[in-house]
Amino acid sequence: MSVILACKGCGATKPGPTGDPTDLFPSEHCGDCLPWTCETCGKNCSAAALCSCWVRLDTLPFADIKALFARDGTFSVDPQA
Ligand SMILES: [Zn+2]
Ligand SMILES: [Zn+2]
Repeated sequence: MSVILACKGCGATKPGPTGDPTDLFPSEHCGDCLPWTCETCGKNCSAAALCSCWVRLDTLPFADIKALFARDGTFSVDPQA
């Protein structure tokens, strides 16, 4: 089995599915990422001090995440895939 990319920010991987949203798509940032600059508000963000526009995908149920991406229209999650 190939490893799964868990975080696009720092390139973290995991050896297999863990039942969280990163099974389907990597998160932008994780707790291991260095602080980053928010593309939306330009403030300095880190996993411990998120800016107000950051949505914590890892705390949302799957249905809410799919709704989020469906509304955006740039990403769709097929549960049969
Ligand atoms: Zn990371
Ligand atoms: Zn922001």
